[in-house]
Amino acid sequence: MPDTLSAILVPHAQALLGYAVVFALLEFGFPAKRVQRLWRRDSALDLAYSFSLPLLLYVPHTLTLIFFTGYFLGAVPADPDAPGFIERQLKVVENPRHGAVSIHPGPNWTYLPQPGFSGLDTMVTRESAGENETVKTILIRVEAEPQKVSWAVTSVQRTGRSSEGLSGFFMDLRTWNAERPFLVQLVLVLFAMDFIGYWRHRLMHSKYFWPFHTIHHSSGSVDWLSNERMHPVNQFINTIVSFLILIALVEDPFLSSICIFLRRGYSLYIHCNARISYGPLDYVLTSPLFHRWHHANCPEAENRNFAIFFSCIDWMFGTHYLPARREDPEQLGLVRDRIPDGLLGQWIYPFAKLFRVKDSAGLGG
Ligand SMILES: [Zn+2]
Ligand SMILES: [Zn+2]
Repeated sequence: MPDTLSAILVPHAQALLGYAVVFALLEFGFPAKRVQRLWRRDSALDLAYSFSLPLLLYVPHTLTLIFFTGYFLGAVPADPDAPGFIERQLKVVENPRHGAVSIHPGPNWTYLPQPGFSGLDTMVTRESAGENETVKTILIRVEAEPQKVSWAVTSVQRTGRSSEGLSGFFMDLRTWNAERPFLVQLVLVLFAMDFIGYWRHRLMHSKYFWPFHTIHHSSGSVDWLSNERMHPVNQFINTIVSFLILIALVEDPFLSSICIFLRRGYSLYIHCNARISYGPLDYVLTSPLFHRWHHANCPEAENRNFAIFFSCIDWMFGTHYLPARREDPEQLGLVRDRIPDGLLGQWIYPFAKLFRVKDSAGLGG
């Protein structure tokens, strides 16, 4: 258990430290609010959120990921006697030059680099299942000291009918996507994540989800670290929606990790206490100014600016809001709700609010 703890917390702390350096410099260079403090009154609370969420959600996230991966990708039965069973065969068409590949049942492969090798290697595999055939070019990266092997699919060619059982629609989508150039795939997947994320975020602003999302909006002074303040239920919903989109659309694990990294980094960035607007491009891409208006304590900006990357989604659905004079909102935080100050009180708050709402009038939102 201590190993799992440090495996979760140490990389989290390292990443956060990196973000702190970059965003503190940005906030120092272009401050949105005149009073610029590195450590504000509730930074400790945001840090407590940042470190407790990965620990708290580790087990539910892992279980859901296993469940959904099985649902979407394991639709072909593993039992050879079951109806719909298709035998898969995996072959290496072009062997890697600096290592050996072995094929296991599944079918799966492992790569063993030659002793002392570090750098890039490639191989080509062919997987056949019934009429379907998939040829993949795989780029392998080997790091020495400590030895680490990572890989990415750089090209996919399919023939036959690519749909298989339940996963047919998603298999087709993944195939279609995997055939685009890497950068096109990246933009498409980020857009899909943002489009669905927009509706997920709108849902969080609706009656029964708002008590959970209130927590994120409770920061009176928003900066990059405010991104971390998220109720565990809210964070669970966010992550599961992103997992689902990535499982359904992306074949290449390297692309998935780039998308997760970019979305997290950009989400921290748009919370920055920085005076950054993109001018006319504020109607296409989300700037810190745009998201800070999402956190504004003023009725005109309530339930506006939901997108993380593409503010054009807000424009498409009529929720885009920026005042003509591109200034930071005068006040940030909640318009009408009042919530407890401490971590535990905030965790309990939405449940207490939801149980109370049954016999009282509506909720704020
Ligand atoms: Zn919100
Ligand atoms: Zn926010």
